Amino acid sequence: AKIETMSAEVVDSNPYSRLMALQRMGIVKDYERIRTKTVAVVGVGGVGSVAAEMLTRCGVGRLLLYDYDKVELANMNRLFFRPEQCGMTKTDAAAQTLRHINPDVAIESFTMNITTVDGFDQFKASVTHPDSGSSRVDLILSCVDNYEARITINQVCLELQQTWMESGVSEDAVSGHIQTLIPGETACFQCVPPLVVASGIDERTLKREGVCAASLPTTMGIVAGMLVQNTLKYLLHFGTVSRYLGYNSLKDFFPTMEIKPNTACSNGRCLDAQQAHQAHINSPEALAAAV
Ligand code: ATP
Ligand code: ZN
Repeated sequence: AKIETMSAEVVDSNPYSRLMALQRMGIVKDYERIRTKTVAVVGVGGVGSVAAEMLTRCGVGRLLLYDYDKVELANMNRLFFRPEQCGMTKTDAAAQTLRHINPDVAIESFTMNITTVDGFDQFKASVTHPDSGSSRVDLILSCVDNYEARITINQVCLELQQTWMESGVSEDAVSGHIQTLIPGETACFQCVPPLVVASGIDERTLKREGVCAASLPTTMGIVAGMLVQNTLKYLLHFGTVSRYLGYNSLKDFFPTMEIKPNTACSNGRCLDAQQAHQAHINSPEALAAAV
């Protein structure tokens, strides 16, 4: 009987009706809020491009894309980019495809390196509201493949009190992870050295010079899926937002954990954020609300 009811539901040609069904089924309270959300995707490579496509198909309001690189034939073992886009910047090629898939999404593309002195300022300005000086994005997704870029995102997010999610795929392409970073509440990217998780997964996603890293569309697609699923849960308030979710494809092992902030973190902004967070959770209002 249940199946009959479901198939009797109107399935029109509007792609949003399948998303709105999440609301009818009680998973999400107000799916349409997605249209008011702004997400920045930094790094439009194997993970970032797929994450951007998922967000576009989910109908996010605004998508900011950052990358300095061009599409190459060597990228064709991943998803998303097509051979005829070789030579285009990744941000322009992605904007072209994504606008075609869903013209309702406002896409801003930034072809730039976020780690240079100017790049840092431009990146920060682009996610800052010109009037209020606070963040104008709801979430920043890190889909870069190197330490410096992650440190830059960490710094901008600490300065703006902006929550972000980090992702990584190991150099041997068989494991990956996602992580949610909330200034003051969770570890920042500098609180702990690059993760070598006790579970036996080598999470060092640092790029070694002169070494050709392996990559698989499967692992990158799965990590992008984990990242955007966590993004939807965070933005639309359903389920549990993972603080850390690992993926080990050889063992089909998905470890989760919490990473507490380090009270001896080398980043002063992180220490300030930790103090503010402690003051907040010990405030009379917060204590009253917890009862
Ligand atoms: P590979 O190095 O294996 O050929 P890739 O460089 O395309 O792959 P991915 O892991 O697929 O790497 O994606 C990471 C993306 O992040 C790349 O497109 C890269 O250009 C981008 N990126 C890395 N650092 C920065 C940075 N500082 N500023 C902007 N984009 C960056
Ligand atoms: Zn820290």
